[in-house]
Amino acid sequence: MPSLFRLAIHWFRRDLRILDNTALHFASIQAGSVLPLYILSDWKKEHHWTGPKRQSFLCGNLASLAGNLETVGGKLVIRCGAADAELEKLVKESGADAIFFNRDPDPFGRAMEAKVETMARKLGIHCEGFHDITLHPAGEVLTQDARPYRVFTPYSRNWLTLEKPAPLPKPRDLASPKEIPSLPLPDHSHWKLPDPQAQIIEAGERAALERLKKATSGIIQDYKLKRDLPGEPGTSRLSQDLRFGLLSPRTIYARAAKAQAETRSSKAKEGIDTFIKELAWREFYMAILWHFPNVLEEEFNPEWRGLWWAEPDELFEAWKEGRTGFPIVDAGMRELLATGHMHNRVRMITAMFLTKDLHIDWRLGEQFFLQHLVDGEIASNNGGWQWSAGTGADAAPYFRIQNPWSQAKRYDPDGRYTKKWVPELRDVPAEKLYEAPKDARPLNKAYPLPCVDHREERDRTLAIFKKHKERT
Ligand code: FAD
Repeated sequence: MPSLFRLAIHWFRRDLRILDNTALHFASIQAGSVLPLYILSDWKKEHHWTGPKRQSFLCGNLASLAGNLETVGGKLVIRCGAADAELEKLVKESGADAIFFNRDPDPFGRAMEAKVETMARKLGIHCEGFHDITLHPAGEVLTQDARPYRVFTPYSRNWLTLEKPAPLPKPRDLASPKEIPSLPLPDHSHWKLPDPQAQIIEAGERAALERLKKATSGIIQDYKLKRDLPGEPGTSRLSQDLRFGLLSPRTIYARAAKAQAETRSSKAKEGIDTFIKELAWREFYMAILWHFPNVLEEEFNPEWRGLWWAEPDELFEAWKEGRTGFPIVDAGMRELLATGHMHNRVRMITAMFLTKDLHIDWRLGEQFFLQHLVDGEIASNNGGWQWSAGTGADAAPYFRIQNPWSQAKRYDPDGRYTKKWVPELRDVPAEKLYEAPKDARPLNKAYPLPCVDHREERDRTLAIFKKHKERT
């Protein structure tokens, strides 16, 4: 069959893989040759929403993508600047007659897609965006009266009943033009960012597929039992792979469903069910961002807009650096700084601590996480922060305030996680990590006393929320 297009540009964005990539798949079957393109963002003076760890991971992924593309006859071209302007230049330079890309659900991505589509119309070339980032687009999981869900449980019930799309094959031969000039593969210095100085998880599609293999060979089977224990390797560690599209959600779902079909153990089946529900949480928050992009600026729940927050002071600095004197909080923040990752349970503890014990605005925590998380993703991060602050979709009610001491006792009972990240507490008996030192003597000379009294701050939070409720 003759090709529909002579040369299609595949604009890579959050889909840095060759396997099971919707737009790349269709570009490869509809065009005689495919020009794979990645457009780097310009260096900006201030990086509020990212940082060296995630940008370094991106660079590793681009290097790996360039190598993977070569195995299917592709040659990655790197450009830098505004996507619509760069795509226009490249169309003119290469004579491309089509642009293919996977859609991005965030408001910034959507705004750029609209500009690219306008540019393509002006040039009279084909331009097609595909749904790829989730199993189900936001518009597919709606209430009976076609409205977006605001609460997770009914959303997930509906999501689970929908038929899941199957993975797509790797493209055969992209036959990319070889003569198109490209910028060199970047490193973090492209954005004038410092060396990340962190143990960042291995980049690239191959490493992500290895992680998926490991996750589906035991971790997700035990997931229900172990996912809340930060001292255990009990979660999949796939979030950065989903964030950068090193793996597609279809492939992950298909492998999990296969593992489900292959086990007879009801415990393992339950574990896998729980894991699959977490994939639904990711899609729930993406749907929330799609339908309510204002959540990036304000509280999802209008009742809590205009709430009082404390000025960020030295307590905010202590939280950022992991020296609050609350061992589990400090362990989480230090894990984040050292690796660009933090266990989900501890993300909840540290986020609730910032908003409910230090009374600091969730937006500041949200931004700090995005500057450090390798998996930093605006929908899930915003959802997680608003959940913890008690202001979001299906959030923890404001009066349900986690106690960081009892959380440590429950989820890190032997102190393994805490001691790993706060080594000055290595020789302290685990039970001392579950309560404030009674005699006001520090647990170790090098470790601070708790920066606040949890009970007092809890009462203060309840009073702040109550007062706000009465006022509005
Ligand atoms: P697993 O437990 O193995 O879960 C499998 C996958 O399901 C994850 O990779 C992720 O894609 C998804 N998932 C799991 N839990 C959640 C959740 N609560 N919300 C949305 N998706 C979920 N996740 C991000 O990917 N990026 C973020 O920037 C992010 N920020 C967060 C901020 C806060 C304050 C909180 C409380 C949670 C945040 N999460 C974020 C969700 C969650 O913490 C991570 O997805 C999870 O820790 C990643 O580890 P994992 O891959 O081993 O997860």
